[in-house]
Amino acid sequence: MECRICWHVYDPGEGDDVWQIPPGTPFDALPEHWRCPVCDAEKSGFLRVVG
Ligand SMILES: [Zn+2]
Repeated sequence: MECRICWHVYDPGEGDDVWQIPPGTPFDALPEHWRCPVCDAEKSGFLRVVG
């Protein structure tokens, strides 16, 4: 999933160090309060990466 504001890509294989999300966590399993670690956008601001 990719942030449509700053184009940060959430990689489920790597998780998210900022939010202490362990590697292997799918985007759908992120907590509702999770936000883009770069620009603080909400989960709803992320778009599925095409291709
Ligand atoms: Zn962002």
